[in-house]
Amino acid sequence: MSQAAMSDLAPESFFSPDYYVARERFVTAAQAAGASLTEKRHPTATGPGGRPLWMDLAVLGPADATAVITMISGTHGPEGYCGSGVQTGLLLSGRARALADRGLKVVLLHAHNPYGFAWDTRFNEDNIDLNRNYLASFEAPLPANPNYDAIAPHAAPADRTPEGLEAAEGALLAYAAQHGFPALQAALSGGQYNHPKGVYFGGVAPSWSHLTLKSLLSGVMAGAARFGCIDMHTGLGPEGHGEIITESDPSSDHYRRLEAILPGEICSTSDGSSVSAKLSGTMDTALLGLAGDRWSAIMALEFGTVDTMSVFRASQASSWLHVHGDREGPEAGEIRRQSRAAFYVETDSWKRAIWTRGTEVFDRTAAALLA
Ligand SMILES: [Zn+2]
Repeated sequence: MSQAAMSDLAPESFFSPDYYVARERFVTAAQAAGASLTEKRHPTATGPGGRPLWMDLAVLGPADATAVITMISGTHGPEGYCGSGVQTGLLLSGRARALADRGLKVVLLHAHNPYGFAWDTRFNEDNIDLNRNYLASFEAPLPANPNYDAIAPHAAPADRTPEGLEAAEGALLAYAAQHGFPALQAALSGGQYNHPKGVYFGGVAPSWSHLTLKSLLSGVMAGAARFGCIDMHTGLGPEGHGEIITESDPSSDHYRRLEAILPGEICSTSDGSSVSAKLSGTMDTALLGLAGDRWSAIMALEFGTVDTMSVFRASQASSWLHVHGDREGPEAGEIRRQSRAAFYVETDSWKRAIWTRGTEVFDRTAAALLA
């Protein structure tokens, strides 16, 4: 391989500066790798400049493969820079093709939340956190989160003057001083279903992204006996570190299966070993349901970026912008920069760490599926 071609494959080159460039590069790389592509255009939401938005699915490998590996990017908007970079790298580096040639169906779902990716906000076009929107049923009663209710005005203050923000954060820190920081994290991020203008809102019905993802994935797993899935996230944990997160209890078969693939590396929200709090309405749990009786290995891969409070402030700010503010107004630029920086560390060393860990987890899951 020539020197120029080698440098083209530097891992940092897989990552893109915005959603539209990321999508273009993903689609082009998928076509070059011989993938079949399905695009799902969002029926109502648009990106900056009124441009359309898509969720894209690339599939490589035999249609009748008995094992399927899936990687999902952009569940939380700007976390898509990370996942999209790894997906594009899997295509450009030939890794996806090589696994497909060994009989595995390789499925890359790009921009689960294209609105959030395009606008640099964690939440979707309806201020929904998609990873709280996968409830098995939206019939009342929806999960209660009385601890969020107690701090709701401070969790998402409508007043974003410096005084308003200071007062709100003071109230949250007072809550943490009384109940502990993990309790504050659980109250805020666990998911809530009755403050549509709040943060980590799970919605009152399945979102377009929820329904579209389920329909695409049920299609690709039809006929398969084994299903692996890695949902790519950023924003929790030490910078560049990639934690494997499951909702499954350590006594479950699913947890033991993950443990066999990545020994000693599985963190569960069920036993407090994860950087994440216990959550309602996660995709993890919904996909386990979708997989049914299949052998399945479903996980979130969470990469650290900056400190937790900065990530929270950025999520709060971008939610406010889309709920109360003008997403193209004078305050939008700074809030978008803040949100993007919270979920995407734009250094070569971070991107290389993401690539190394992302491919390690992908390869080990693929090996288990092929075994
Ligand atoms: Zn996330």
